[in-house]
Amino acid sequence: MNRRNFLEATSLGGLATIAGLNACTSSLPSYSDKHFHINSGVNQLPKLKLSMDRIVKETVGLRPFRASGPRLDTEMLGNKTIIHNYGHGGSGWSLSWGTASITREKALATGEKKIAVLGCGAIGIATARLLQEKGCEVTIYTKDLPPNITSSLATGTWSPASRVCDPSKVGSDFKALWEKATLFSFKQFQFLLGLNDIVAWVDEYNVYNELPQAPANFMAGGEAYELPLLPEKVTLTAKEHPFKAKVVTRRANMMFNIPSYIRHQTQDFVMYGGKIKVLEIKKLEDIDALPEKVVMNCMGLGTKAIFKDDELMPVSGQLSCLIPQPEVTYKLNTKGANLIARKDGIYLGGNGILGNWDTTPSREQTEKVVHILQDLMNSMKG
Ligand SMILES: Cc1cc2nc3c(=O)[nH]c(=O)nc-3n(C[C@H](O)[C@H](O)[C@H](O)COP(=O)(O)OP(=O)(O)OC[C@H]3O[C@@H](n4cnc5c(N)ncnc54)[C@H](O)[C@@H]3O)c2cc1C
Repeated sequence: MNRRNFLEATSLGGLATIAGLNACTSSLPSYSDKHFHINSGVNQLPKLKLSMDRIVKETVGLRPFRASGPRLDTEMLGNKTIIHNYGHGGSGWSLSWGTASITREKALATGEKKIAVLGCGAIGIATARLLQEKGCEVTIYTKDLPPNITSSLATGTWSPASRVCDPSKVGSDFKALWEKATLFSFKQFQFLLGLNDIVAWVDEYNVYNELPQAPANFMAGGEAYELPLLPEKVTLTAKEHPFKAKVVTRRANMMFNIPSYIRHQTQDFVMYGGKIKVLEIKKLEDIDALPEKVVMNCMGLGTKAIFKDDELMPVSGQLSCLIPQPEVTYKLNTKGANLIARKDGIYLGGNGILGNWDTTPSREQTEKVVHILQDLMNSMKG
């Protein structure tokens, strides 16, 4: 199914037209033609100012990975209904609204209106906001507040299939569930455009000397889990890009300006009457003691100790942050490194270590990505 048919079949056609994203007809220039026309003669991109002394922050975040995919089931704890929503790997930002919608259906089915949400990361806040939309009275209980949560340490790209499961370990219903969550999220993000750039569309370049292989064990944007939601990826000719590389592609992708996004959603949550209480859940009895009968578990990796989930494990990822350059607005992936230009900085990353709980940043990793990107920038035309 092509993109236009897909958008129509999933009732996203009207949405895509509003967003100016609708598939092009043969009489109209494609996205790439239009883009090249605008830039004709100026197919240059602003270069990064790359040096170790411009690195102002290094962080290591732990992606909450489950081989069988995020856990979204319900369990009873005494007279409490616990609805799980955790374990999104490298896709938590992207899938947040979608899995929040799936779990909201389960919460509403209980008939309860007073709901507890454990955790205020990307998943907890989306879950809380969607419940409020249906008239629920929501209290968030959380051990830590942003920026001291995993969600604050993410890159912030639309990547709904990144390290979200091991395809060989998922159940037969997983793909349909993932598609449902991905579609809902994609749609939701289009309504967050224009709100102080908390969500934005940017050009994403892939710059390689050979086509990258998907990691063996993780679903990392593999074809089998790709939905035709983004504009087509186009392969650029040597004249259409400034890089010294054999294979260069470009597509538009969505990104999230994480600090302002979290601030915006949290303020909305409070504006609609939500309460946030700082509380560490140390044992199941602490959940039992909450006044609400329905509890949404959005504690991410924090779930492991409380619910004894052996499957849940970290995939650590380091980000090194450069001082922002307002003229740099693109995203780029190359062998061993990637970069994304956010409002709060240019984030360099590219690693993922399964099973690593250590959140100490490595200077060596920063030097590695800085050098890879320095070489790439030095070899750029212009
Ligand atoms: C380097 C890196 C890059 C990433 N890039 C992307 C990306 O580009 N796109 C994307 O979609 N995703 C990305 N991710 C993945 C994404 O960040 C995660 O999937 C997401 O943040 C998980 O959100 P969460 O709300 O489940 O967890 P968290 O953000 O960890 O939130 C958990 C919440 O639960 C609370 N909590 C935990 N334990 C307890 C307890 N015992 N008692 C009370 N409260 C508790 C915490 O305080 C926190 O509020 C990336 C992750 C990393 C590390």
